[in-house]
Amino acid sequence: MQNDIVPVLVVGGGPVGLALAGDLGWRGIACTLVEQTDGSIYQPRMDLVGIRTMEFCRRWGLVPTVEGSPYPRDYAQDNIYLTSLTGYELGRERFPGIGQAPPPKESPQRRERCPQNMFDPILRAFAASQKNVLLRYRTRLVSFTQNADLVTAVVENADTGAREEILARYIVGCDGARSLVRETLGIAMQGNPVLTHTTNVIFRCPHLLALHDKGKAYRHIFIGPEGTWATIVAINGRDEWRFSIIGGSEQRDYATDDIKAAIRRAVGRDFDFEILSVLPWVRRELVAERYRGGRAFIAGDAVHVMSPTGGFGMNTGIQDVVDLSWKLAAMIEGWGGDRLLDSYSIERQPVGTRNVTEASGNLRRMLSVPPHPDLLDDTPQGAATREKVGREFSETMRREWFTLGAHLGYRYEDSPICWPDGTAAPPDDPRAYVPTARPGHRAPHAWLADGRSTLDLFGRGFALLGFGADAAQAAPLLEAARQRHLPLTFTTIAEPHIAALYERKFVLVRPDGHVAWRGDHMPEDALCVIDVVRGAADRGKIN
Ligand SMILES: Cc1cc2nc3c(=O)[nH]c(=O)nc-3n(C[C@H](O)[C@H](O)[C@H](O)COP(=O)(O)OP(=O)(O)OC[C@H]3O[C@@H](n4cnc5c(N)ncnc54)[C@H](O)[C@@H]3O)c2cc1C
Repeated sequence: MQNDIVPVLVVGGGPVGLALAGDLGWRGIACTLVEQTDGSIYQPRMDLVGIRTMEFCRRWGLVPTVEGSPYPRDYAQDNIYLTSLTGYELGRERFPGIGQAPPPKESPQRRERCPQNMFDPILRAFAASQKNVLLRYRTRLVSFTQNADLVTAVVENADTGAREEILARYIVGCDGARSLVRETLGIAMQGNPVLTHTTNVIFRCPHLLALHDKGKAYRHIFIGPEGTWATIVAINGRDEWRFSIIGGSEQRDYATDDIKAAIRRAVGRDFDFEILSVLPWVRRELVAERYRGGRAFIAGDAVHVMSPTGGFGMNTGIQDVVDLSWKLAAMIEGWGGDRLLDSYSIERQPVGTRNVTEASGNLRRMLSVPPHPDLLDDTPQGAATREKVGREFSETMRREWFTLGAHLGYRYEDSPICWPDGTAAPPDDPRAYVPTARPGHRAPHAWLADGRSTLDLFGRGFALLGFGADAAQAAPLLEAARQRHLPLTFTTIAEPHIAALYERKFVLVRPDGHVAWRGDHMPEDALCVIDVVRGAADRGKIN
């Protein structure tokens, strides 16, 4: 029996739970994370660390470690559409190696290719390096109850079976798609429980590149006379490959010989390889109806389960916990108001729905090729069919490859803790990101004269930016924040191009980097603004 009350109990040590534990610790909030396994990755799932996640890594000081991970940075990231590796190439979207592509102008970072077996250990080391974070592996949450003040969790040692109680102020279920925390709260998942029954196979073949003439590529999408049927992904850029039989809505079990035959079909010839793991899994399209039940919260795959097409799953989950973490910190430190924690679900659930929907759209587009019986024919008609399929598919797939808007353009439109300024929202287009400092959006990046990004000003507490304005002019908000113990820094920004980007003289940015309020003048009632953004007042009643 552990008598101390843990501020936050995090359940699940996947990437989302580790990011939450690390971020809480980075904020000075003590937490305990329980993970039922020893943390080994049986089969790496994610490998795209999105640009927004990299911005968080920048804040956490993890960029050099991610960039230094063993995925080769000169490995071409092309996506190829083909009948087989030794067969016809139908189309290709070219991308340079990750290290050869500069960050886009909208961010100080670029997306990275860092598979889960490389990225999870980075997040784990980050969380473990926080002195107030306790990581407990081989420890399973068995059950929990809550009352108005506390959560009482029962956990079990996976080796000895010994059980103990952990008392916590808050519990966060980052416990994956089969979340016990979600189930205990009785929160339903809404959507489509089965898109496909897919089989993933990791195989090792150091000489695969020498067997064909297509060169290095990240993703290969195989199209046969029946349509799109399989993919191969360069999982570590060296000798390991993930082969996926995409499958359909009916479950099908493959014998090892079937899997080997399918891999040889994709490569187009007989060759030697070693199967490292086989993982049948169900591709789903689900979002939780809400992300909170009292003192319990859920995040990551526990609240949204989506097709990997687009690489949104973990990245959406890490956004969830960056949204939640500062709010928990505010409550624990005593400057958050009663409504603050409600805003988590209000802000993040629509983003979950948006990204789950986009991911399913990507799947539909990938599977949109109709049957073409003559696709493999060595005839003028076959060649014409291949040209048509390749051209149309290349155009269709671009939406999945160019996703800056999806990763940076999410916004908290109906947030009770953002103060709308009456301006119209730019379109939410997954392909195109429109930088804006409109309340609810990610405060945009621009380079400061001293070489920092504007994003480097955000993170620990709130940040008030004054464009051509000094602290004396910002005194009402600074004083209101001081009265409410809300942590707030002030920065004068002189660069005209950043003032033009932010559009108002004063912009108040939250600890997660989203704009809470902006205006050309100090608000008449600065305490009201501070009370709304810390969740202590209802904006509707004030307006
Ligand atoms: C093939 C594939 C490719 C993908 N590619 C990408 C990509 O490129 N980019 C991307 O962003 N996403 C990708 N995803 C999705 C991504 O892998 C998931 O969204 C992500 O792993 C979810 O992280 P999580 O921490 O929420 O959950 P999980 O990774 O599922 O972790 C949950 C953890 O909770 C633990 N746990 C569960 N119950 C308990 C309990 N009772 N007590 C203690 N511990 C418990 C589990 O052991 C597990 O470690 C991909 C998915 C697949 C299938």
